[in-house]
Amino acid sequence: MPTGRVSVFKQAGTPFEIREYPTPDVEPGGILVRNTGAMICGSELHGWRGEGRLQSSDNVIPKVLGHEFTGVVHSLGEGVDSDSLRRPLKEGDRVAFPFFFPCNRCYHCVRGEHHACPHRMRRNMAGLDEYPYCDGGMADYYYLQPGHYVYKVPDELPDAAIPPLNCALAQVLWGLERVRVHFGDTVVVQGAGGLGVYATAVAHDMGASQVIVIDGQPGRLEMAKQCGASDVISMREYPTAESRVERVMELTGGIGADVVVEVVGVAAATLEGIEMCRLNGKYVDIGNVVPGDITMPASKVIGKQLKWFGTVHYNPWIIESALQFLRRTRDTYPLANIASHSFPLEEINKAFEFAEWHGKEEGTAAQRVMLSM
Ligand SMILES: [Zn+2]
Ligand SMILES: [Zn+2]
Repeated sequence: MPTGRVSVFKQAGTPFEIREYPTPDVEPGGILVRNTGAMICGSELHGWRGEGRLQSSDNVIPKVLGHEFTGVVHSLGEGVDSDSLRRPLKEGDRVAFPFFFPCNRCYHCVRGEHHACPHRMRRNMAGLDEYPYCDGGMADYYYLQPGHYVYKVPDELPDAAIPPLNCALAQVLWGLERVRVHFGDTVVVQGAGGLGVYATAVAHDMGASQVIVIDGQPGRLEMAKQCGASDVISMREYPTAESRVERVMELTGGIGADVVVEVVGVAAATLEGIEMCRLNGKYVDIGNVVPGDITMPASKVIGKQLKWFGTVHYNPWIIESALQFLRRTRDTYPLANIASHSFPLEEINKAFEFAEWHGKEEGTAAQRVMLSM
């Protein structure tokens, strides 16, 4: 078995270190993937800065980051000759897969609630020196244990379209699927970063009549328009929460939105978004995985009869839906261009600094930064 480079995250504020690690012997039913591209997710920028999850005690540090990634089959274990939909799979085929691993042997999994499997985060369970070594996207290899869901990537899709699919796109698709966006709905999307532009396109594709997108950066709002936004609210023009809520009310004839999606990653956005929901509306909270919790105004949620959907992860069939969505709409939305910049893996430190700076830069599209292997 080959060895491969792993970019090691030691702690916030220290540079990544590239080390060489072994790859595991591929068990019957397992697949070794040679990674080709990994995207820097906003949640990883939070961890890199020292905010939130990557620093918490239930995580093993040092570790390898990278959960938005893709690759090609390097070697197939005994007995594997197809993907999760029984389509033929061979070495060299491009694949997409969830970055978590529902156990299929628990209360939640047997009910089909793989997104809520308490054992799904294998990434928190092993150190870098322990089997199966290949545990993240910002490295040369990743190991899919026997039973891992895996899907062949359609030929029509470019490589750069795939890495954010298993987090950003799958997550918003699952969120909007769970709340059931209906034909003719009004949907508000708070935030037009990677998740926001995907949410815009998915809501538009699901038949929403009005998709209102809120962000502070003109480049991002421009991208949202190309992805089906009917209206945009610039935070420069509407700098306060009250003014943005008022604007949503204006745009919806005083009713409010059927569905509001939070993909900002700022806790206060949730309180603002709840105000934008109509009576009996639905709120999908995805981005609020940051420190600085809010206090949920229970009487408001009850009074407005809101359905509030906290959303982390998804069921595995969503990956195939996401692939087919990208294939079907590849000439409609510019989603293949979501990787705006690419760096080789050795330049991971530069890539993170660039992503940080690029995210704050005035007027840029601030789409995602990719590492290529
Ligand atoms: Zn992510
Ligand atoms: Zn389970």
